[in-house]
Amino acid sequence: MPIYGYNCKSCSTSFDIVTSVGNHQREVECKCGGVAKQVITAPIVIIPAHMRFDAPSGYESPATGRIITNNRQRINDLAESGCIEYEPGMRQDVDRRVVEDDKALDKAVDDTFDREIAAMPTVKRERLDVEMAMGMNAETVRL
Ligand SMILES: [Zn+2]
Repeated sequence: MPIYGYNCKSCSTSFDIVTSVGNHQREVECKCGGVAKQVITAPIVIIPAHMRFDAPSGYESPATGRIITNNRQRINDLAESGCIEYEPGMRQDVDRRVVEDDKALDKAVDDTFDREIAAMPTVKRERLDVEMAMGMNAETVRL
């Protein structure tokens, strides 16, 4: 139900009444006995963050090159280019994922290396051990 605001003509008290649209009155009786008139205020419109448009002079879409001057154009441009709205924290999420993926890849490489060495014929493995002991270094290079 909507909230209707009233202001008393006699005592200047302001108060709200929550009632249905069909039941509201332009004038109600105040506690002091005076007449309180309905106060008309502009409705507060809450726009979700993804619907806000903060570029009054417009901007050039980095995806399509189109000039975007309102939210409808921006939504269409994002949809057409397969992009999503940037939100704070996204960059950090991507950076964190890259680090996690790198760690997972390093572990997979290490596991494969260990498995291949374990599967080597004993003679070959012993020769590798000697070479490693003599200072040969094995380095993983990602291409
Ligand atoms: Zn009053």
